[in-house]
Amino acid sequence: MDLGIAGKRALICAGSKGLGLGCAQALAAAGVDLVLNARGQDALEEAAQALRRDHAVQVTPVAADITTEAGRAAVLAAAGTVDILVTNAGGPPPGLWSEWEREDFIRALDANMLTPIALMKALLPGMIGRGWGRVVNITSQSVKAPIAQLGLSNAARSGLTGYVAGTARQVAPHGVTINNLLPGIHDTDRAAALDAGVMQAEGISREEARARRAASIPARRYGTAAEFGAACAFLCSVHAGFIVGQNILLDGGATNTTL
Ligand code: NAP
Repeated sequence: MDLGIAGKRALICAGSKGLGLGCAQALAAAGVDLVLNARGQDALEEAAQALRRDHAVQVTPVAADITTEAGRAAVLAAAGTVDILVTNAGGPPPGLWSEWEREDFIRALDANMLTPIALMKALLPGMIGRGWGRVVNITSQSVKAPIAQLGLSNAARSGLTGYVAGTARQVAPHGVTINNLLPGIHDTDRAAALDAGVMQAEGISREEARARRAASIPARRYGTAAEFGAACAFLCSVHAGFIVGQNILLDGGATNTTL
């Protein structure tokens, strides 16, 4: 399917690895020029080079912490005109409800709620002015069904979800859509880190931790960044203009809900 977005320009936050990189690869395959962000310069340059080589698109890497005001300013200055925004950042650490202090919540809110909101506030006016735009926020399945040890994530991402529900309907008249993609377990560094926590807590091997988690998913496997990226690229396509303010689970059926 021709996604109809060749020649558009996308800003992909936190995109040198994992789900963000999956989105970058799928958008580049659709002919979209990229502004690619992550903190670590080496992995970012490597990803940018591979994307240019494989897809012959322009890729502008910007090494910065997207969760800081200075980082966002650097990314936005380098980005210029942006038609497609994919927001993403590392997730908050796991823990216990009784241990989290105000500062822990402030960090999680900054990274996973207020950063995407700031980026949307900066870029939506340009999209509205041009009469076309796409925003995809990478959130989590924890928005639909809480994961107890990820309470910081549950809280911050739910706040973003509420914001998107209202804002998506305010910008839709201008040809701009905002939707959220909710990953379940995907085979990335983040999943490996969570598996490592289970290995340590339960004294089991990596293979066992992984097999146990895969067994809990109806699809009986972890998702891939390529599958995730393909869904993102479709939401950014010309065909998805009537999908507004949705929260789309990509979790192999793990979240046991009817709707
Ligand atoms: P990942 O494989 O660890 O990749 C994270 C990417 O984000 C890397 O490119 C990393 O590069 C970049 N990054 C992290 N913090 C950043 C920051 N402050 N500023 C700029 N770039 C940053 O993670 P992932 O699995 O793709 O997860 C992406 C998001 O989805 C996370 O919020 C995660 O919690 C959520 N999620 C993932 C899963 C899963 O199973 N994978 C499930 C549910 C939710 P640098 O470290 O160099 O900055």
